[in-house]
Order: sequence, then C-alpha cells, then structure tokens
Amino acid sequence: MRVLVTGGAGFIGSAVVRHLVLVKGYEVLTVDKLTYAGTLTSLKTLDNNPSHRFLKADICDRAAIAQAFESFRPDRVMHLAAESHVDRSITGAKEFIETNVIGTFTMLECARQYWQSLEKDEKDRFRFLHVSTDEVYGSLGDDGLFREDTPYDPSSPYSASKASSDHLAMAWCRTYGLPVVVSNCSNNYGPYHFPEKLIPLMILNALEGKPLPIYGSGANIRDWLYVEDHARALDIIAERGRIEQTYNVGGRNERRNLDVVQRICELMDKYHPAGAPHEKLISYVADRPGHDARYAIDATKLETELGWKAEENFDSGIEKTVKWYLDNEWWWAPLKEGYDRNSRLGLLEQA
Ligand code: NAD
Repeated sequence: MRVLVTGGAGFIGSAVVRHLVLVKGYEVLTVDKLTYAGTLTSLKTLDNNPSHRFLKADICDRAAIAQAFESFRPDRVMHLAAESHVDRSITGAKEFIETNVIGTFTMLECARQYWQSLEKDEKDRFRFLHVSTDEVYGSLGDDGLFREDTPYDPSSPYSASKASSDHLAMAWCRTYGLPVVVSNCSNNYGPYHFPEKLIPLMILNALEGKPLPIYGSGANIRDWLYVEDHARALDIIAERGRIEQTYNVGGRNERRNLDVVQRICELMDKYHPAGAPHEKLISYVADRPGHDARYAIDATKLETELGWKAEENFDSGIEKTVKWYLDNEWWWAPLKEGYDRNSRLGLLEQA
C-alpha cells in the first residue's frame, strides 16, 4: 500500500505518517511545504526508514504535485495540509484561502488526472481522504451534537476555508467520480502539537512561570481527541469508509477551556513542583471575535459502521501530553524560539 500524505510534517499529519509506516508497514510519501507549522523533527523516528520519503512542495504547485502522483503512484491520498490556526486566519485570511481552497482544488485536480489514467482495478482501489474539522458546523448551544448531516455554518476565515475545501472534495466525487471520503474531527491534542496552540502553550508558559491567558471567561467548550486516536480513525476511514460519505471523528470528551487549563495546572504542580501552584498564573484576556461557544461530535457513524473507538480518555491523554512536553524540550524549544520572536500580543490560540 502506497499512501501520499499531505501536511505530514504537521501535528496530525506526522501522527498519521508514523502510524502508517510503523504500525501498518505502508510506504508513505509525505508532501509538505514546511511552513512555520511543519517540521521534519516530528518525523525523526522515521529517519533512514526506507518506507518513508519526503517531498518539500506547496500543494498549490500543480506541476510539483502532478509529478509526485506520477512518480510515487499512490493507492491512496490522505490530504491534511492546511493553514490551521484560527487566530492567524483572523489577521491574515489570504494564506488560508490559498492553501485550504486553491491547494485542495490543486490536489483534487492532480488526483483526478492521475486516477483517470489508472487501470480498472487500481482505479477501484484508489481513495482520496479529505481531512477536515468540526468547525465547519459552526457553534452549538448547550445541547446537541454535530452529526454528519448538520448544516455547514462556519464562523472564522479558517473554518470557512475548510468548509469550501470540503465542498470541493465532494463535488469532485459527484461530478468526476473521484473516490472521495471526507472526515470532520474535533479538537486534537497530544505530542508534537505546535507550541502556539492552547494545550502546549499552557504547559510551556506554566513551565516558565508566564501568564496562562484564557479568552473571555474560559467557558467555551471543545471536544478533545488524542491525536493517535485520530490517526487510527483516518486510516480506517481511508481504508473502509464509503465513497461520497462524511465521517465525524470525536472522543466524547467535552471540556471547558478553563477546566483544561486547570487540569494542566494540577499536572504541572505534580511534575514541576518548583512552580506550584500554577493556577495562580491564569489570566483572562478579551475574547476572540466570532468565538464559537461549543463544539461536540457525534461519532456514532464511525463507531458503528467502521468499528472505530477512541482509546484514550482525556485524563490519561492530558497527563501523557504534559509528560511528553516536559521530556521533549529538544523538539519544542527551537519551534518556540521562532514563535516567541514572531508572536503578536493577544493572539493566542484557544483551540
Ligand atoms: P498543522 O498546522 O499542525 O500542520 C499543517 C501542515 O501542513 C504543516 O506541516 C504545514 O507545513 C503543511 N502545509 C501548510 N500549507 C501547506 C501548503 N501550501 N503546501 C504543503 N504543505 C502545507 O495542522 P494540524 O493541526 O496537524 O491539522 C491537519 C489537518 O487536520 C488540517 O487539515 C486541519 O484542518 C485538520 N484538523 C485539525 C484539527 C486540530 O485539532 N488540530 C482538528 C480537526 C481537523
């Protein structure tokens, strides 16, 4: 099995690539532009592994992507490359439109051209998995869950660009017959998460005794999924998901942002007692414009139809994550240095 993974040097993409190569024994070509969010150090465990190859390319570069299809000849595409930071999309939407919309269009066109050239049995086996977010559904009130038939209602430039890309992917399936499957997942957390995102930011600020900034009152709710559970889900959906279908992925782990930060503080008290009590570092900052109140996923379709289940509960997953950051400064320190240099005050990802 040969899988072309876009965005494989990012947070979720690198978990997917590690899973495919190390657990499944597949051959993988990672295609990644290595933006600020991508680093090959996240794939260090695959150094010198002959089953993994890397191509530095922009998914908007049609010639480079078409060449990647021709030379690698994938059985499957898992398309994760995206601009993914909501706050960055608010201050600079252009890159989100370019990568998430034009880049997805380019991937679909190159995949279509390649797929049409295949023999019948290869054509039948080919799958294009488009990986997306639950943020396309907008915001929930106190009740209810996002289902696959929930209408799209995106709030931020990021989620609007992802919604556009989901529609393009389905349209390429319905119009041209490209065998597309779409997944929409809730918030991920775990190792190799870029230091500007909520959970790593709080761990690393707590470690340095810096303020832990929380948007608004911290009441916004997210449904957290451990990244390795997501990687497994994506592999299952790409393998057995039905064409032209959407699968929602979520861990049934709803938490208020404030509760997440308080739990991190407790764990930091345990593993970094010198800074205790870390809760005193919590500070409240002005809310993000268009901040969705609550996301929560109904993953019944994926669980019953494809037999996937989240294995990690939030309490054990967050403890593993805190320990991973404390043990892996070699990975985050260089990234954080770049982030600190470029960071803009008040622009802190709250998931
Ligand atoms: P990330 O920002 O950590 O990684 C994105 C990767 O894409 C990086 O390696 C980056 O270098 C690469 N990239 C960006 N622009 C590119 C371009 N033009 N050409 C080639 N490569 C490019 O993102 P992530 O959190 O790992 O998210 C991966 C995917 O999963 C995205 O599509 C995102 O929308 C989706 N998703 C993320 C979450 C989450 O909680 N992080 C939840 C649901 C869905």
